[in-house]
Amino acid sequence: MLDFSHEERCYHCGACAQKCPTGAIQMEMGNDGFLYPEINEEKCIHCGACDRVCPHLNWEQKMPRLEDRTCFAAVSTINEQYKSASGGVFYSLARYFLQQGGYVAGCVWDDTLTARHIVTNRLDEVERMRGSKYVWSDTTEIFREISELLKCGEKVLFTGTPCQVAAANNYFGKQENLLTCGIFCHGNTSPQMFALWKKDMEAKYGKMENVVFRYHGPDGNDNAVQITFQSGKKVRQEINENRFMRGFSENYFGSESCKDEKCQYKEGNIPGDILIGDFWGYTGKKISKWMSAVICTPTGVTIFKKLEEECLVEILPSELSKITEKNGYLIHGTHINPLQHEFIEMAKQRGFLKAYNKLGTMSWYKNFLYKIKLGKIKKFLKK
Ligand SMILES: Cc1cc2nc3c(=O)[nH]c(=O)nc-3n(C[C@H](O)[C@H](O)[C@H](O)COP(=O)(O)OP(=O)(O)OC[C@H]3O[C@@H](n4cnc5c(N)ncnc54)[C@H](O)[C@@H]3O)c2cc1C
Ligand code: SF4
Ligand code: SF4
Repeated sequence: MLDFSHEERCYHCGACAQKCPTGAIQMEMGNDGFLYPEINEEKCIHCGACDRVCPHLNWEQKMPRLEDRTCFAAVSTINEQYKSASGGVFYSLARYFLQQGGYVAGCVWDDTLTARHIVTNRLDEVERMRGSKYVWSDTTEIFREISELLKCGEKVLFTGTPCQVAAANNYFGKQENLLTCGIFCHGNTSPQMFALWKKDMEAKYGKMENVVFRYHGPDGNDNAVQITFQSGKKVRQEINENRFMRGFSENYFGSESCKDEKCQYKEGNIPGDILIGDFWGYTGKKISKWMSAVICTPTGVTIFKKLEEECLVEILPSELSKITEKNGYLIHGTHINPLQHEFIEMAKQRGFLKAYNKLGTMSWYKNFLYKIKLGKIKKFLKK
């Protein structure tokens, strides 16, 4: 009956609660803002269903090792690329699935700007899945929904972090109609800390409507965070200036399960027929400014060949060593900041921005100097 330290090892996927036949498991928010299972022992019938789906207890994914998979550099030919985080190949894959009459499961912002997995066969909803939401996405209802679709013989593409893909694999077992696509992942962040950052921003600008964490749109060619408010105001910040993204990269509010060796989904054990990520440091023929790195099992290769035939992607062969050179998180986990606990408590009591300004490396005066420096560089480049 899920006999391990949840605070240390749980991936917050909610697979256990969805599989439990008596409803004995509820997902409750822990001190760090992530959801954890709470088991009502009076309702538990000791059937072991939760144990069998848990991605911590059943971590071995029986996948070919990364070096035995096929690697590509790729770019979508149909996506307005600025709407995605890198080469937009997720969108090409998802469109192919919809064309085949299938469903796609992935992460969207819901009406309250909470990151949540949905499953859909509608193009407008798949479009909302584009772009990385660097916050833990709520999967606590999705496996049941997908299960119903698979029972009816529908084809489903499941996308998410490797631990979410592992939970899906455990939940559904081997299924001909299920294709999985994992994203390269260096760790996740607490939805509670995101909500506190949002609250601080809303106090300044009013209700927030959308956040694009990796905006590289036509009206600005840099990697920026773009925040849209209900008033129509748009705030655009360099990634380095945005306190949420800085807190994320300084690891102040990650999940304990992403830490170092705790994430069991690294190296040879990363699940997903297809894995997609940023091709950092790409040196081959450049078809686009933002290139995706793709790693496929034989099933994934078959799908990618079809995408190429349908002119949905352009692909160039590549090698694993070139992908991992700048993407070491495929191999190792992330380091949690030793001040994480202090940060979280301070953010809860005094607000996110105050906690960041006190503990983060980018204090307000460093930010001020950064802006001056940035202004000078931009001026110099314009000359
Ligand atoms: C938390 C997180 C950490 C990441 N870490 C790395 C990394 O270390 N190195 C790297 O190369 N790439 C990383 N990525 C992936 C990268 O940012 C792109 O998502 C990936 O390259 C796919 O890009 P795309 O242009 O094909 O598609 P996009 O349109 O950018 O991506 C959409 C896909 O991402 C999924 N997605 C978006 N947000 C989430 C979320 N919160 N949880 C689960 N799935 C989500 C959607 O379901 C969809 O499948 C990370 C993404 C996330 C969400
Ligand atoms: S199934 Fe998921 S939510 Fe439940 S204990 Fe295991 S990792 Fe945690
Ligand atoms: S680093 Fe590992 S545990 Fe953390 S979100 Fe990514 S796959 Fe899951």
